[in-house]
Amino acid sequence: MNTNFVIAIDGYSSCGKSTLAKALAKQLNFIYVDSGSMYRAVTLYFLRNNIDVGNPEQVYEALKNIHLNFNSRDYETHIMLNGEEVSAEIRQMPVSKNVSAVSAIKKVRHEMVKQQQRMGKSKNIVMDGRDIGTAVFKNAQLKLFMTADPKIRAERRYKELIEKGQEITLHEIFENIADRDFQDTTRIESPLVRADDAVILDNTNISPQQQLDFALEKVNALRNSA
Ligand code: C5P
Repeated sequence: MNTNFVIAIDGYSSCGKSTLAKALAKQLNFIYVDSGSMYRAVTLYFLRNNIDVGNPEQVYEALKNIHLNFNSRDYETHIMLNGEEVSAEIRQMPVSKNVSAVSAIKKVRHEMVKQQQRMGKSKNIVMDGRDIGTAVFKNAQLKLFMTADPKIRAERRYKELIEKGQEITLHEIFENIADRDFQDTTRIESPLVRADDAVILDNTNISPQQQLDFALEKVNALRNSA
């Protein structure tokens, strides 16, 4: 049987999921999808259009007007919101501060999961997020659950954003990460939780190359046993 290979990467905020996902996709020639960017783009639309997250009618109407696409010219995330590339804007603080509230809405999740499942249908894919192994691709061949020390995570993200020219403090980032982790793990709809069959990967003390090697070893073992 010729089935597609799915790698699901879940975990806490800013613990290197996308770094690993991109590296794996590049190495294996798989499609890479950053599912968080989809929730971020929806949040940006909600902010721009003053959508009240507590008003189901408004949320429903807004979702009908949101069209997301990925422009996959490389292994970076280029997400288009109704034809406009918003990849940089969705990483800014206003979106980061609101995204967990938006992604807790059942209707939002339902729509995103549907689109994500469509993207992974019959394709080799690496997708990272919070519910990929538990909801989007429950049958993924490889599930990784990533974690790292919260202080290290904040420091890494701080460096990354400062290099991109954002004006932000380490404290703000630390708070935002802690807040999102809390909201993401305690929400009712598909909270962030490790799938029973997910392999834990704590990258507090390992390099990006070491985590890539770890994951590639898992992929190769699974492919050789298939
Ligand atoms: O991955 P990233 O940190 O960009 O995700 C932003 C937010 O989107 C998360 O904090 C979470 O609230 C939400 N998210 C989600 N489910 C996913 C991916 C992201 O709820 N699969």
